[in-house]
Amino acid sequence: LQTHIAKLEGYLDRFKTSGIENLINGESRPAINGARFDTTSPVDNSLICQVAKGDAADMDAAAAAAKAAFPAWRDMPAKERKAILIRIAELIEERAEEIALCECWDTGQAYRFMSKAALRGAANFRFFADKVSSARDGQNLQSPTLMNVTTRTPIGPVGVITPWNTPFMLSTWKIAPALAAGCTVVHKPAEFSPLTARILAEIAHEAGLPKGVWNLVNGFGEDAGKRLTEHPDIKAIAFVGESRTGSLIMKQGADTLKRVHFELGGKNPVVVFEDADLDRALDAAIFMIYSLNGERCTSSSRLLIQKSVAKEFQEKLIERVKKIRVGHPLDPKTEVGPLIHEEHFNKVTSYFDIAKEDGATIAAGGKRIGNEGYFVAPTLVTNAKPDMRVSQEEIFGPFLTAIEFETEEEALEIANGVDYGLSGYVWTNDLTRAIRFTDKLEAGMIWVNSENVRHLPSPFGGVKASGIGRDGGDWSFEFYMEQKNIAFAL
Ligand code: NAD
Repeated sequence: LQTHIAKLEGYLDRFKTSGIENLINGESRPAINGARFDTTSPVDNSLICQVAKGDAADMDAAAAAAKAAFPAWRDMPAKERKAILIRIAELIEERAEEIALCECWDTGQAYRFMSKAALRGAANFRFFADKVSSARDGQNLQSPTLMNVTTRTPIGPVGVITPWNTPFMLSTWKIAPALAAGCTVVHKPAEFSPLTARILAEIAHEAGLPKGVWNLVNGFGEDAGKRLTEHPDIKAIAFVGESRTGSLIMKQGADTLKRVHFELGGKNPVVVFEDADLDRALDAAIFMIYSLNGERCTSSSRLLIQKSVAKEFQEKLIERVKKIRVGHPLDPKTEVGPLIHEEHFNKVTSYFDIAKEDGATIAAGGKRIGNEGYFVAPTLVTNAKPDMRVSQEEIFGPFLTAIEFETEEEALEIANGVDYGLSGYVWTNDLTRAIRFTDKLEAGMIWVNSENVRHLPSPFGGVKASGIGRDGGDWSFEFYMEQKNIAFAL
């Protein structure tokens, strides 16, 4: 821990001196109106540094830069664009430790999980770098009288708006395919964790990205974010965040007919049938809710457990949850760090009373840890009914709600009985049941007998209130590109 803290202090020095500025048209700039806001660490609420508080004027400057840079970036030979994306990946790898330490201090996420986040970000750039040369590929569709040639072209300058939970990885996941498609980007990172977005944009410029191709504007959602979604020169918005913010963005973007791609909230079920490998299911259920502080969109926040095995499974679960190590996020032994900020901490902890008032049982956790920072004990609520608030609402913390079911039909009804539909996890050794159940389960991504393991070519996204659109592989290009059909008479 002490080594990590010493290294972190070295990395933070420059932020302490100069703060975090915006990066517009290749230049580091304060906000046009000079405004700044504080970013603090959830560990002890101490000031990390000040951040430029961009607003509509900064967004206008960034959108103008992205618009001006677009034609040259779109037309740059694929080989050259690919080389820049690969260089970005290499530079991320070189600075992986700095990125991980800064991200943990800024977000409260535990280092043992975050240490790989930068490398995953680099992998995203490598993956999409490899797809640059095929991004424009189209098809020929011939009729008796026409030869149809379908091509793809980048849509133009796009806006990327990211949340605070795993900011580095999510930013790369959105920006890498946009650049590979030939789009230019204006990125508005979350105000609560701006450090690594700045490092990432610096890396991109160091890698030789032409000025104006990637612009970074810090600020709040209600002004900087809002203007980005309303800007007439921004052709599409890739947004990751809460469902209600997605709905606001849709309204804000309506006048300019914005194309949107939303990755939103979840209340994802992990459904454990009596015939499953219960030891593996237990490990996976724990990992999917208590890693990354439960501040993870695909977390398995509802455990649906078959009654015949519920008692034994939950007893083991309680024992394990009580042993989870809560502590300083930079301590390699820590499994759960502090929640991102006070408001979120108040939200998560409010569900302790809500659970009790609704008649559920707090079987583990249910309390704050320490008096400083935003640490909470990993929490397990049992005896929950499907209509309780703890079974319905996205809590976004290390908080698992266990609901018992008797039959497969009942499990399906409970699993689908929420507004969300991002991911689902099904544990059974009955293949026919797995096929039947996953066919009816309302979720964009389902893992059977597995925790969430990301495969970059596969589609990622949710249904219902969990999102619109998919990314991953070629799906990302469908969003960032326009299809054009040219019909030649034969
Ligand atoms: P949030 O919606 O509050 O904020 C996300 C971003 O939107 C921030 O950058 C914020 O400044 C900006 N924003 C806020 N209001 C805006 C507006 N009116 N116009 C434009 N931009 C605006 O979300 P959060 O609290 O930062 O993140 C947590 C949420 O993100 C959770 O609901 C979680 O499930 C979701 N999430 C989803 C995925 C996914 O892939 N589905 C991944 C990670 C997080």
